Amino acid sequence: MISRIDLRGAAFPEGGIDRDLLPRAEFDVEAALETVRPICDDVRHRGGAAVIGYGEKFDGVRVERLRVPDKALTEALDGLDPQVRAALEESIRRARIVHREQRRTDVTTQVVAGGTVTERWVPVRRVGLYVPGGLAVYPSSVVMNVVPAQEAGVGAVAVASPPQRDFGGLPHPTILAACALLGVDEVYATGGAQAVAMFAYGTDECRPVDLVTGPGNIYVAAAKRLLKGRIGIDAEAGPTEIAVLADDSADPGFVASDLISQAEHDPLAAAVLVTTSPELADAVDRELATRVAATKHRERITTALSGRQSATVLVDTLDQGLEVVDAYAAEHLEIQTRDAAAVAARVHNAGAIFVGPHAPVSLGDYCAGSNHVLPTGGCACHSSGLSVQSFLRGIHVVDYSRDALADVADHVVTLANAEDLPAHGEAVAARFGGGQ
Ligand code: NAD
Repeated sequence: MISRIDLRGAAFPEGGIDRDLLPRAEFDVEAALETVRPICDDVRHRGGAAVIGYGEKFDGVRVERLRVPDKALTEALDGLDPQVRAALEESIRRARIVHREQRRTDVTTQVVAGGTVTERWVPVRRVGLYVPGGLAVYPSSVVMNVVPAQEAGVGAVAVASPPQRDFGGLPHPTILAACALLGVDEVYATGGAQAVAMFAYGTDECRPVDLVTGPGNIYVAAAKRLLKGRIGIDAEAGPTEIAVLADDSADPGFVASDLISQAEHDPLAAAVLVTTSPELADAVDRELATRVAATKHRERITTALSGRQSATVLVDTLDQGLEVVDAYAAEHLEIQTRDAAAVAARVHNAGAIFVGPHAPVSLGDYCAGSNHVLPTGGCACHSSGLSVQSFLRGIHVVDYSRDALADVADHVVTLANAEDLPAHGEAVAARFGGGQ
């Protein structure tokens, strides 16, 4: 079911291995830009009417208004299964514990006597949070978006999620209930590129936002890329990925069930096993065969596991395995080896690392306390997952006295002249009776 890439005996060049040797999903955001550009332009010009029209076209349901009434939020919470409510509350509680600790404090540096620079962390004022609702509904993504925004101190939080035909054009009730549990009352029934454009340009119902975060499909990613600049965005999220670095001590049943659990998200989801043990690889193959056949979304999972984006990669040594997982830069990386914590400490590139046999990615998807909105497609080599930091900006506050400025004035003038920007120097000289 899952293909093999055999790198045993291969040369591992000094500067790292060629990423193109590794499996990756086809996720051509550039091509999707052509689809989403007219949608975004239309929303810019026609506002809410265009947003509603695209909901009818792509989600098969026409809504009267985009904003979800307060009553629908209350009803969704009242109707929430008590067990789901308890699980969501625990997920929120753990996410709050972790994200609260992430809040950076302002730092004031005394550069010279009378001269300070303070880095002041200020929350973004208004954010739009995207919660997917196409193939599956993700109340957990409400938690993962809203909690860091709230812990950062964002003043206005709006959520968008696709309208569901089976629920009268409202987002899925579990998503509404999660919003209500978190105290979010500004929710819109729209998905895809039109939701991102609504947040960017604003409509008669929705004021524009400063930042849009959250995972979504290729149209969501393309709209975020297109509108970046007008709005801030988090890392572009593509189809989900799991990589497992394992040696012969790993339990093949654990490895197989974790690969399957991420393949369940999406036919384009990627599951990659990197191992030093051909025996483990064979045992995982056997486990996959029996476990996939027995699980609910077997078709989607089979497509994902047999796609070109998934593979078992055989290597000679754990060091080579580490090179492979660094080159791959997985959204989720599990370390199932002896001394897993020490191996994990040597990883450079991953969205999140799950250490040892008792930290499956599913734990992180819901209840570890960590965030599950993570960089995909190799972006983990330069980007981080969603955190409180995603919702803060560091503002440098420069405060110099007259004497402190006088002390450095000559250097400023010299550098200004060296850049042929004499007016810069004159602005300093003007304070001491010089200049024009
Ligand atoms: P989605 O809400 O992202 O997309 C649904 C929307 O896509 C629809 O509302 C529609 O407007 C738009 N759309 C559908 N077909 C279109 C077309 N032909 N042209 C233009 N627009 C179209 O839901 P989804 O499709 O289920 O995708 C969710 C994605 O999010 C999955 O890939 C999943 O793996 C990912 N995800 C990632 C994370 C993470 O943390 N990285 C978490 C949850 C989900």
